[in-house]
Amino acid sequence: MLEISKVSYSYGGNSVFSEVSLSVAPGSFYFLTGPSGSGKTTFINLCAGALIPEVGNISVFGQETRNMSNYELSQMRRRLGIVHQNCEFLDHLSIEENIALPLTVAGMDNTKERANVLELMKWVGLDSKSDVKPQELSGGELQRLALARAVIMSPEIILADEPTGNVDWEMSQRLLTLMIELNKMGKTIFISTHDLSLIRLAKAHVTARTLRISDLKLSQAGADL
Ligand code: ADP
Ligand code: MG
Repeated sequence: MLEISKVSYSYGGNSVFSEVSLSVAPGSFYFLTGPSGSGKTTFINLCAGALIPEVGNISVFGQETRNMSNYELSQMRRRLGIVHQNCEFLDHLSIEENIALPLTVAGMDNTKERANVLELMKWVGLDSKSDVKPQELSGGELQRLALARAVIMSPEIILADEPTGNVDWEMSQRLLTLMIELNKMGKTIFISTHDLSLIRLAKAHVTARTLRISDLKLSQAGADL
């Protein structure tokens, strides 16, 4: 469902990836690690079609991002749930409205979908905060809000960019549990992180592969984590 073939990418001559290939099967669970500045966010942006490879191709759901029209890109992104590293919300909207925003953007009937939104708020533990504004939430609550918004359209792939970057260990575990539940529902999961204890914990519950970015390549990390 996600095919990366011989992809190279650089910013103004500074290479981030060189001839990287990866084939992601539906329902798989991946961690993406690498030091700060190694290219984790760039990788996620390439998969989401926000960046196009300079060389090589990325195909998502059978179509190359390079050849997608803006309309096709937006259709493809509805099938991807992205949790951005610096998730931003609309401050004048409530938590419930922020979660429902992708439905509004897609022109769906929010009143029909309300039960889904409420269920999702409950799932991430924000049901008591539905009328609150994002600026009143803690870091961990904002991360759960970001996850809820990313999955409201029922995406097939979830790309989460350092979702536990700014939260404590207990909240990291909670977010991981949600990701594992999504994976058990059949979703393909990609989590970028440099938290090795999170990876170890996940491996006790799911079959997860760990990819490490180093020397402009993606390599599969061994069991030595
Ligand atoms: P990570 O998410 O692993 O911290 P990034 O993908 O954000 O890494 O960045 C990889 C490299 O690309 C870094 O050296 C960063 O400085 C550079 N980079 C990222 N975004 C840009 C950009 N928009 N313009 C120029 N350089 C960038
Ligand atoms: Mg990053």
